[in-house]
Amino acid sequence: MTTPQDLQHIAPVGAASDPDALRTRLDALLPQAIKDLEALVRIPSIAFPGHDREPVQRSAEAVAELLRGAGLEQVSLESVAGGAPAVIGRRPAAPGRPTVLLYAHHDVQPTGDPAEWTTPPFEPTRRGERLYARGAADDKAGVMAHVTALRLVGEELSAEGIGVTVFVEGEEEAGSPTFRPFIEAHRDALAADLIVVADSANWAVGVPALTTSLRGVVDAVVEVRVLEQAVHSGLFGGPVLDAPTQLARLLATLHDENGEVAIPGLVRAADPEVEMTEEDYRRDAGVPAGLPLSGTGSIAARLWTRPALSVIGIDAPTVRDASNTLVPVARAKVSLRIPPGQEPAAAMDVLVAHLEAHAPAAAQVTVHRGEQGRPYSARQDSPAMELARGALADAWGRPAVDTGLGGSIPFIADLLEVFPAADVLVTGVEDPESRAHGIDESLHLGEFAKVCLAEALLLLRAGDLRREDR
Ligand SMILES: [Zn+2]
Repeated sequence: MTTPQDLQHIAPVGAASDPDALRTRLDALLPQAIKDLEALVRIPSIAFPGHDREPVQRSAEAVAELLRGAGLEQVSLESVAGGAPAVIGRRPAAPGRPTVLLYAHHDVQPTGDPAEWTTPPFEPTRRGERLYARGAADDKAGVMAHVTALRLVGEELSAEGIGVTVFVEGEEEAGSPTFRPFIEAHRDALAADLIVVADSANWAVGVPALTTSLRGVVDAVVEVRVLEQAVHSGLFGGPVLDAPTQLARLLATLHDENGEVAIPGLVRAADPEVEMTEEDYRRDAGVPAGLPLSGTGSIAARLWTRPALSVIGIDAPTVRDASNTLVPVARAKVSLRIPPGQEPAAAMDVLVAHLEAHAPAAAQVTVHRGEQGRPYSARQDSPAMELARGALADAWGRPAVDTGLGGSIPFIADLLEVFPAADVLVTGVEDPESRAHGIDESLHLGEFAKVCLAEALLLLRAGDLRREDR
């Protein structure tokens, strides 16, 4: 771990935001940053129900130690309502100076079958320019980007009176179940002028991005019942269609013949300015050669600015347990991604209305409403956005592109609701090959260095954000 004493041996940065001077200084800090990242990813901090909580606690303690080492003063582990431990570290702003909140999460996705990994998921392994491990990118690299930026420019920020708060959540991958009560309980500690969420992806290796739109999500469980109990499919089959068949007929009405969502009343946002090639999409998603894609319009539009609906689970007898019976009841969980501009409650209403309206006459259909998460669209022309674009361009040597994310970060909407005056920037440590949540997750270490540099520049320049600009 690098301590403030170590930093004294490194030349101070003169004109605070000179990228070349900072880059030189960063080079000296990177080996330790990567070592610390490796130590963090060795802790299997999966916060899903049913997993051991001990590693999540250990991971929170390790993060707290890193924040203390990076010069933050008020560092504590916090949780509300039985939630997983988050870490908050602060150094308050001088009067009249801005505060920047840096967000990341220290919990990780489950690994899937470890046998499918090239090397064990919690044993960080370098291959080429990438570091492979669960959490190496999502989002322990986000934690280490904040720590490294503070090691890099913490003293200058202190001298400038710029306040820094680091908030490292412990249950993001498990759906942030206590996020809203948490930020309400810690409203004073977390209040900031600018919030940097380092939990997304850049456009490509070598091309930085700001994630300026995120889809929201609503889900529901639809249950189809055709009989009071299971009966012999030979003796009774014919006059009654079994529940899985009726369910399949209902689910088939959710898309049209082109594979577009066929639910009336859903909103589309304007098409994105950047385009993802079909080739890239096919490679990243793993679409077998020769299979046509579904939907119409650009790939980026299909991913970010239009609705998408998936059946994510079906309850019905397994093939292994299949017997000659008419199955009386079947259930499916459907997940509807919604673009910026779509209210989740309205999307839920039209989804439920569609399922009820298309219920087969010979089935009882019940729809249970599930979770709702809001979409997000960044304030495009804010001074904070300009600051971010400048920092990313200086770190990468080329301008950042605006991207969307087909996925959801529902807590972004919570942050905006609890801190309406703050600007939220969604930055990334991942690239398209990072395979966050997948087998062989990895971080590109060259890109990681640029993420750290951009964040340091952003922090140093945050002093230029005058209150009247915000
Ligand atoms: Zn994440």
